[in-house]
Amino acid sequence: MALNNSQYDAIMREYDRKQSRNRRDLRERQDRAYERQPRLRELDGQLASLAVRQARRLLDGDEGAVENLRKEYALIRQEKEELLAQGGFAPDYLEMHYDCPLCRDSGYVEGKKCRCFLQKELELLYHQSRIRERLKEENFDTCTDLCYSETEMMEGTGLTVRRYMQRVIAGCRRFAREFETKGGNLVFYGSTGTGKTFLAGCIAKELIERYLSVVYLSATDLFDMMARDRFARDEEMPEEGGLRTVLDCDLLIIDDLGTELSNSFTNSQLFYCLNERLSGGKSTIITTNLSPGQLGREYSERIGSRLVESFRFISMPPGDIRIWKQREQRKRHGGEK
Ligand SMILES: [Zn+2]
Repeated sequence: MALNNSQYDAIMREYDRKQSRNRRDLRERQDRAYERQPRLRELDGQLASLAVRQARRLLDGDEGAVENLRKEYALIRQEKEELLAQGGFAPDYLEMHYDCPLCRDSGYVEGKKCRCFLQKELELLYHQSRIRERLKEENFDTCTDLCYSETEMMEGTGLTVRRYMQRVIAGCRRFAREFETKGGNLVFYGSTGTGKTFLAGCIAKELIERYLSVVYLSATDLFDMMARDRFARDEEMPEEGGLRTVLDCDLLIIDDLGTELSNSFTNSQLFYCLNERLSGGKSTIITTNLSPGQLGREYSERIGSRLVESFRFISMPPGDIRIWKQREQRKRHGGEK
């Protein structure tokens, strides 16, 4: 699966739009700053002519002069900084601000696609935009432990459900924060409506903001994709390539494992996928209604032991957060009367 021309053009047009928006924003900031501190305009003019002089002398092989220019340059910059501070502006107020500082919104770094480009590519190829939309609502900022019961106990922990979930959420934050250095794999298991997908989404959002590649697929879509890939190979059709991204992305989220039709094909493909990712040092998060024991029985012994060896299992409290949420709201509402 590769971008077609119109998809590629759409991405490049978006970069063009970003660049012109950022240039316009810079001009507006300049106008504001020059109005408040007119000397800034002079200094920017001096900096520009200094750059021209510097280039000329370099071409003349006059390295001593270049050193002098450098000093002059530093003095002007210093005066600029002081004027900006006096005017109440941030030190980088007159610098160009980029959405992606890595590629300066060009989409490419040293001739290779930038991380932000690859992320756009993922969004288009794997129809991730609906999920990206959802993450605007579902993330660590909106993630509240309020909807978990303060009185019910979480079995086997000696903690109330709320206390237990506070720890789980803190652990998820840590997982996201330390992702680049520690990586790791998680299984969130528990019944429907307990917040598994929500938590996986919170982690995804953090990583996407750092331009890491995240692919989110329901188990059904994942196996569908693997079946198509297999078909393409058997028929000697040109390789789709999409599967490679699924196997290589920084984080793969497999949502709702166990709800798809499982058979020997899905079984072997799940093993292949997990194995490829583990041996490549890539992280995977699985959400499932099945307990660790059920997973081993439902799929295979070797998948079960792979998971137990390499994944951290996080049990979600029984019940339905939507019901708890309603109950909490009623309680708060009742308390106000
Ligand atoms: Zn970039």
